[in-house]
Amino acid sequence: LGPTVCVGEILVEIVATTVGDGFLEAQPLVGPFASGAPAIFISQCGRLGGKSAMVGAVGDDDFGRVNTDRLKRDGVDVSAISIDPDYPTGSAFVRYRKDGSRDFVYNIATSAAARFGWSQTVGDLIDRSGHLHVMGSALSVPSAREVIDKAVDIVKARGGTLSVDPNIRKELKLDEDTERRFSKLVAMADLLLPSGEELERAAGVEGEAEAIRRLFEMGVKEIVLKRGADGATYFGRQGDRIEAPAFVVREVDPTGAGDCFGGAYLTSRRLGMSQKQALTYASAAGARNVTVLGPMEGAGTRQELDAFIASTERRP
Ligand code: ADP
Repeated sequence: LGPTVCVGEILVEIVATTVGDGFLEAQPLVGPFASGAPAIFISQCGRLGGKSAMVGAVGDDDFGRVNTDRLKRDGVDVSAISIDPDYPTGSAFVRYRKDGSRDFVYNIATSAAARFGWSQTVGDLIDRSGHLHVMGSALSVPSAREVIDKAVDIVKARGGTLSVDPNIRKELKLDEDTERRFSKLVAMADLLLPSGEELERAAGVEGEAEAIRRLFEMGVKEIVLKRGADGATYFGRQGDRIEAPAFVVREVDPTGAGDCFGGAYLTSRRLGMSQKQALTYASAAGARNVTVLGPMEGAGTRQELDAFIASTERRP
């Protein structure tokens, strides 16, 4: 089967090294780290040895090269990442607060990340893709939205599969059009990867059991619900359910856990593993990634995840 393709924002992330509120004073920062939820996801796919490719754009600058170099090293096909001569690579500055919440300064709308479109190269890649992964966050970027719409139709028409990570936080208000597109995508998902409250939001109903029932009714084939340090749960259409207890780790930087989890689950399944085995690799990928500073710095190779699994306790 053709590669897993992810379309969306590619950014660098720059992280404050102290905990506190906002960015109003000069403070020590670290970075640039390769980032953007879709990029983190595809990096994890590549690291696990799955055929994978990324569609998006960076500027003709060092922040862009941080990303393309990293994805190339991970084994990701970067030929459909365009290099925008006029706009810089997108960026996100992040500072954690004491309660674990985050303050962001984003530059996406006026960056290369918001300016790519359909091209011959993108079309050729989508034509041979076996799986498309969509992050809800990419839907708020008009250019990405357009590419995703077209890509979903092509991949589905040729018998490929679709996974969707809602990746939409409670605070984020979507306009009606984006909300409609989001629901349409969810209904087409072979695999839905919500975390926390996104489950109910994607279903449009309250209560976990009710939301799961509703999503299957809408057409979703499989659901894996991410619960942070409380692990994850697989739900199948026949009422089957598999619990995936979390590994016990010291959390240094929670950003990217869900993306690594999703990339590892999907790739493991596409490489032929059982749901249970894929959940173990996914849980390991998410847990390992939170132990390292930077959104995808802890994404593990198969070997690294095997070592992590062998040496790390899981919650009872
Ligand atoms: P998201 O980043 O999408 O909100 P989560 O925070 O739920 O996703 O993380 C995804 C998965 O990564 C979890 O289901 C869990 O398996 C693993 N994970 C995340 N945070 C931790 C943690 N602190 N300890 C152990 N595992 C974690």
